[in-house]
Amino acid sequence: MTTPHSVFCDDYDPNSLSIAEASQRILQAMTPAEGVEWVSVRSSLGRVLATDLVAPHDVPAHRNSAMDGYAFRWQDCDDQKNTPNIALKIVGISAAGHPYQGPLPERAAVRIMTGAVVPNEADTVVMQERITLDESKTHLTLSPDALPALGANIRHPGEDLKAQVMALPAGRLIRPADVGLAASLGCAEVPVRPKLRVAFFSTGDELCSLGHTPQVGQVFDSNRYTLFGMLEQLNVEWHDLGVVKDSPEALEEAFQRANQCADVIISSGGVSVGDADFVRGILDSLGRTVFWKIAIKPGRPFAYGQFTGGKHFFGLPGNPVAVMVTFYQIVRPAIMRLQGRHPLPDALILKAQTRTALKKMPGRFEFQRGVLSMDENANWQVNATGEQGSGMLSSMSLANCFIRLPESAGKIEAGSWVEVEPFNYGL
Ligand code: AMP
Ligand code: MG
Repeated sequence: MTTPHSVFCDDYDPNSLSIAEASQRILQAMTPAEGVEWVSVRSSLGRVLATDLVAPHDVPAHRNSAMDGYAFRWQDCDDQKNTPNIALKIVGISAAGHPYQGPLPERAAVRIMTGAVVPNEADTVVMQERITLDESKTHLTLSPDALPALGANIRHPGEDLKAQVMALPAGRLIRPADVGLAASLGCAEVPVRPKLRVAFFSTGDELCSLGHTPQVGQVFDSNRYTLFGMLEQLNVEWHDLGVVKDSPEALEEAFQRANQCADVIISSGGVSVGDADFVRGILDSLGRTVFWKIAIKPGRPFAYGQFTGGKHFFGLPGNPVAVMVTFYQIVRPAIMRLQGRHPLPDALILKAQTRTALKKMPGRFEFQRGVLSMDENANWQVNATGEQGSGMLSSMSLANCFIRLPESAGKIEAGSWVEVEPFNYGL
């Protein structure tokens, strides 16, 4: 933000885009997936629906009982309401899957189970707890006070879904209820978008892959593992291309490999202004950088570009927390759009009272890590996870939310209300 005082502070960089502008520009550049793949209804879980799912018939298809009880004609009982007891003759049974086939004479009832078809002439069901059976179980009596309202306890055809209405819209992420809904419509197969292919690799001469012994000055590569986890949750087809050395040749070779197997390419590290930061140079020789640097913390050195041929490239910073912040804030919505999800879900943002003071300088939008919980008055409260270094992956592991501090904010006192964005909820 170009607030007057932020111009003079270290965190202000006139060449950085705001997070809002960066997000908007990236989303505009994404063309949603086309193409249709038919998969079994179970395999559709977590996929994106390709075409509207229209109900071919009413759900439920038949008028059926919402209770175990007795179905009858309401008028027959109303006629008897001035007697001490309403009496009906029981003429048959309608069980779930076994409808009663006979007629319903006057002053008669059919024993009925939940989900069973209600005989045509019946208009009301009384629950079995309200009636008394005679010894032979051929008649029932009912106190006039216990007579339910006309139409009670009957579920009507189409009350869940009417035939020909849209049951699920194209672009929807298919969740457990939707899998069941598709099954209730008789869909054994569901049309979904093809899986997005995403390739990723880490860059850095200091990186040691799992299974090797780190030499002095080396660190284990963790970014490929967090990226794997975040991509897996988005249900993409991912390709891990390993660790790539800090050399233009190695990087170019990695980009070529990625281009062959993926629609989206993600790298981490090597995108800043250090002597070994070659990512942007190679990107410009194989395509173009659309923008570089976002005014966020952590995660300022972030590049978005396109390769010749249109594939998308996200150059994430190297620091492990910055990788996760930029992925969640920018790459994830972009992937969702490419997957054809529509509309994109809004981030869940709550107001919480911070229990800890928060260090901050004006200039960048910060995503600090916090633990969100409910206090004794049912208000949301948040505690920062402690030191907020962008290399401290343990802070992400401890946290269940980002504390969102806008560009213009300076130090935040304990007790202030702040915006938080939960992640991993339910997990
Ligand atoms: P860079 O952006 O390449 O300058 O890297 C910034 C910091 O992140 C350095 O301390 C790197 O060692 C660290 N880093 C880069 N890539 C990874 C990775 N894949 N796993 C863990 N740390 C990394
Ligand atoms: Mg590096």
